[in-house]
Amino acid sequence: MPVDDTFRSDLRAAIEARRDQALQRLHRLVSADTTLGKEQAGQEIMAGIFTEMGLAVETFDVDVDAIRDRSGFSPPVHQDYTNRPNVIARHVPKGRAQGRSLIFNGHIDVVPPGEAELWTTPAFSPSERNGRLYGRGAGDMKSGLVAYCLAYEALRDLGYAPAAPVMFQSVIEEECTGNGALACVARGYRADAAIIPEPFQQTIMTSQLGVMWVTLRILGKPAHVLEASVGVSAITAAYMLFDGLRELEEDWNRPENRHPEFTTNPHPVNFNLGRIEGGDWGSTVACSATMLVRVGFYPGTSLKSVKSAIEANVAATKAKHPGLANIGIEISYRGFQAEGCTIDPNAPFMQVLSAAHRQAVGSEPQRLASTATTDVRFLALYGDTPATCYGPIGGSYHGIDEWVSIDSILSVGEVLALFAAEWCGLEKA
Ligand SMILES: [Zn+2]
Repeated sequence: MPVDDTFRSDLRAAIEARRDQALQRLHRLVSADTTLGKEQAGQEIMAGIFTEMGLAVETFDVDVDAIRDRSGFSPPVHQDYTNRPNVIARHVPKGRAQGRSLIFNGHIDVVPPGEAELWTTPAFSPSERNGRLYGRGAGDMKSGLVAYCLAYEALRDLGYAPAAPVMFQSVIEEECTGNGALACVARGYRADAAIIPEPFQQTIMTSQLGVMWVTLRILGKPAHVLEASVGVSAITAAYMLFDGLRELEEDWNRPENRHPEFTTNPHPVNFNLGRIEGGDWGSTVACSATMLVRVGFYPGTSLKSVKSAIEANVAATKAKHPGLANIGIEISYRGFQAEGCTIDPNAPFMQVLSAAHRQAVGSEPQRLASTATTDVRFLALYGDTPATCYGPIGGSYHGIDEWVSIDSILSVGEVLALFAAEWCGLEKA
């Protein structure tokens, strides 16, 4: 095992020498708009990078029929999975595999940028300011994809390669269903550990909340505004129903109702009214409205019980307000149906990752109980592969002027290289 002080300082130099290349790659990736349905442009760039790394590349479209009946499946919000492939690349050791195998996973999709006029520089025109790179996906999580490639190449620069199989996955739909990662699990991809470099400030994730997307369609009774008192506006009804759901949110946030991993966060469970549409005429009481609500919930809570709680809450709100008596409410579930999960901080791979962080960063890593979901759940719950997130420092994910610290990408590359060296062992490249 060649990992000693000399190796570590050579590794740091190798990482630093690839700074410009890493940045160029991140610029190219962020320049590609990879919002839902448009992932292909980014995946072509990833396939190109994997090829530059000397790895065998495979691409495949998500086959809904192969995952529909699997645990973790979420009904798609985008029906067509053609030409939106997952891309994977494999490192196969030259000698007999000696170490433990590894999956590096990351997602290519990004969330929509929001209003263009609010961005200091355009969302898909990456721009560097004060050691940060700005742009949609710069942090979440194209920087992570760049970092795991950097880790591998820096080891190669030193004349080494992992002595166990390493798979690199770039998947679609982490931001709405996770069906990209589920398709990888369905193809049988397994490893002794997996790391997803989500941009979680170089903390090590020990748990994540569950997330469910709930669609409520409300049918009111149309009327002229002159007689608005007899008509029920579906838009007003939507707000009343959401107010009711917020009581459930507050209930789940009460100290006595919390999961032990989430006791210190001031408000771990969040319900978000992310989208609403309704009505059709300025002088007509709105007769329909549809709202999309994102619901968070604790690990260990079943999807079934979350649905029951939501449906009971909606029924109670309706019963409480006479004005809602004549409206129809349809509840459906598309997009995230994501269970929460916890990760044993004492698992061997977590210990190795902590040690790699200490060596590269020089401090004890912080742990993270994430209030968002990630693709970790597929690997850990349904893919027989212990998994966590560890990735760069940044901010404004899903917001305006998203950014990532450029230095932290290099630091994460270094940590992941040290992790791979220890976990997989090394052979002469
Ligand atoms: Zn992400």
